[in-house]
Amino acid sequence: MISPGKTLGVLGGGQLGRMFAHSAERLGYRVHVYEPSVDSPAAEVSAHSVHAPYTDLEQLEAFVRGCDVVTYEFENIPCEPLWRLEHAGLFHPKWQILEVAQNRLREKTWLRKNEFPHVRFAECEAGGDLAAAIRSIGLPCVVKTADFGYDGKGQLKVTDEATLARAVSSFAGQRAVVERWVDFKCELSVLVARSSAGETRCFPVAENIHTKHILDFSILPARVAPELQQKALALAEAIAERLGLVGLLAVEMFLTDRGEILVNEMAPRPHNSGHWSMDACVTSQFEQHVRAVAGLPLGDVSMSSPAAVMVNILGDAWKWSGDKCVGEPAWAALLREPRVHLHLYGKKEPRPGRKMGHFTVTGTDITETLERARRLKAALHA
Ligand code: AMP
Repeated sequence: MISPGKTLGVLGGGQLGRMFAHSAERLGYRVHVYEPSVDSPAAEVSAHSVHAPYTDLEQLEAFVRGCDVVTYEFENIPCEPLWRLEHAGLFHPKWQILEVAQNRLREKTWLRKNEFPHVRFAECEAGGDLAAAIRSIGLPCVVKTADFGYDGKGQLKVTDEATLARAVSSFAGQRAVVERWVDFKCELSVLVARSSAGETRCFPVAENIHTKHILDFSILPARVAPELQQKALALAEAIAERLGLVGLLAVEMFLTDRGEILVNEMAPRPHNSGHWSMDACVTSQFEQHVRAVAGLPLGDVSMSSPAAVMVNILGDAWKWSGDKCVGEPAWAALLREPRVHLHLYGKKEPRPGRKMGHFTVTGTDITETLERARRLKAALHA
């Protein structure tokens, strides 16, 4: 057990690292952040930060040696420096999990090999025959880059010959995955924590609504039958065990009309769809992450409020005149409301599509809470 008072290192300095640091600090830990860019949201609230590339072995080794355990808030970290530094310190989760999750092809191949339900896919090597891969899956489908994709970046839906031709030219020379298009009933996610002692605990299932491929609303409890929720929880737990996870893992899934649950993505870190837990759960996902990597007993994941809706605040909520930002969102609309929790990440520059913060609305009834969340989102943009 890494006792409170010791030092937790986090690779990545974004908002997830910032909220991790807040939770760790509350439990009495010191947090060190390693982040290539300056002025990061996590560095601003941590005891110590290092700004250097992930490939700078010397700096990275010094950082790892200064921490009792090192974790991540971002999965697109190159794995080679991590395996080279395996001897220098303790890493949770292990780099092999990061390696699977950061590449869509490896991730889907891992799911297939381990017989977890996933979306049917075909791979296309760089310079390979993408049109043939698309035809083998059939239309409609979606082409995604194998590496470094998130929030719908590097994706194209293919519905006809014209979009097929566009996909072939825009993915030329890249390794890609072609996935069957799923007409899902809804999207779900489960966050599961696993400790080094093998104890696992899942947060309640979140129902997620994406707009333009970016998470817009997370709805708790998910409006799906209890037996389907059980299925989603069991799936996330089985994946965490098969991966040998120590830490936190988010599993994003599609629920189809036929009641199938298919895994879309996995991320071995706190997740946007778990932010609601900061205000509507006994233990937040960030505290659970701290507990799991530090070897503390895992926390209670019961909801502390019967209903909760999390809404992302993107740079789009600022006032724009062309591409010039001319004003802030109407914060007062949120701040004067009861049972609304506002979180801002301290990012200096708003940009359309950039995650700047979020708010969580709690209530007793999910329909009314969701309606209130939608109304407050509209008021913020007014
Ligand atoms: P991803 O970057 O793979 O997480 O995709 C972002 C979002 O795009 C997902 O949350 C879905 O809303 C949508 N999406 C991705 N893949 C598919 C698919 N195969 N079928 C339908 N929608 C998809």
